[in-house]
Amino acid sequence: MTTQEQFETDVLPTSAGDLSITFLGHGSLLMVFKRMNIYVDPFGKVADYASLPKADLVFVTHEHFDHLDPQALSSIRTDKTLLVLTEICAQQVTGGTVMRNGDVQTVAGIPVEAVASYNLVHKRPSGDPFHPKGCGNGYILNFGDTRLYIAGDTENIPEMKALQDIAIAFLPMNLPYTMTPEMVTDAAKAFRPRILYPYHYGDTDVSKLVELLKGEKEIEVRIRKMA
Ligand code: ZN
Ligand code: ZN
Repeated sequence: MTTQEQFETDVLPTSAGDLSITFLGHGSLLMVFKRMNIYVDPFGKVADYASLPKADLVFVTHEHFDHLDPQALSSIRTDKTLLVLTEICAQQVTGGTVMRNGDVQTVAGIPVEAVASYNLVHKRPSGDPFHPKGCGNGYILNFGDTRLYIAGDTENIPEMKALQDIAIAFLPMNLPYTMTPEMVTDAAKAFRPRILYPYHYGDTDVSKLVELLKGEKEIEVRIRKMA
């Protein structure tokens, strides 16, 4: 498989079978669970999606070009692919299922929760947040009893800090659009994922996060190529 040659993959056991996660880069993941190929935010700059397996399920967190890439999406999409996206994304690509912050829905047998994803502090010069509240989604996917959280482009918002029983978390750290290592640390100490993957981290120094969470033995920080 090309994916295994080019990209790193972690395999994590769940109560419903193994979950494999391939780190495509930036905000993009390919997960395989019960033989389903599940993508997050396919982005043509990080991978050749035409050479990757077709998608059974795709989650898009928000409409920014590095998360909603219609061309990358069309390379993996078939008429059977289920697509979950936000209201704004649905204005640009057809045939998806819109989920709003707070919505809960079972998709292809996987219970999915759409959660808030927005900026509190980091704003454009105009004063507008890079990611206004209500526009983007984070997603919690329940693989058996393993809850995996993909945060999208967000900061350490109260909704994140209140999350429960998250086993695996993907938290963004590219600046100035999302979180500093300190913000990620604050969130992680609040909702305490067992495995924390910083992702979509751009030029931010990931070793800073490792250092800040050094004393938290119950939170394993895993660094993968997700710049
Ligand atoms: Zn964004
Ligand atoms: Zn982004």
